[in-house]
Amino acid sequence: MEDCIFCKIVAKTVNANIMYEDDNLVVFPDMHPKANTHLLIVPKRHINSLLDLSHSDDALIAHIILQLPKLARQMGAKGFRTIINTGREGGQHVDHLHIHLLAGNLQIAP
Ligand code: 5GP
Ligand code: ZN
Repeated sequence: MEDCIFCKIVAKTVNANIMYEDDNLVVFPDMHPKANTHLLIVPKRHINSLLDLSHSDDALIAHIILQLPKLARQMGAKGFRTIINTGREGGQHVDHLHIHLLAGNLQIAP
């Protein structure tokens, strides 16, 4: 997706201080953090949102979810909050599926 900022980060044409990467996803800090730790977990494949997933994506989603506690532990957090904004009405601003991982001094309500 040419105009997608997260595709550009995946392609490394835009820098985002990627702190974890594997075949399926990248992880980098949110540029406007809402907590001491605020990471974005982003699948490399462009998927608009949760609304565009199907069961063919089961393995990808399981992989992403299982990565969350590992990342949180790596950041020294014992607990964390995850948020997936979905669609404009759901507060999604970047139309490339991503999971927010927040920990420490959370400044937003569930
Ligand atoms: P959304 O509202 O779509 O769930 O969240 C998008 C998030 O991406 C926002 O929290 C915003 O701060 C973050 N973001 C948008 N563009 C960039 C960028 O170019 N780099 C980084 N690191 N974060 C971004
Ligand atoms: Zn994209």
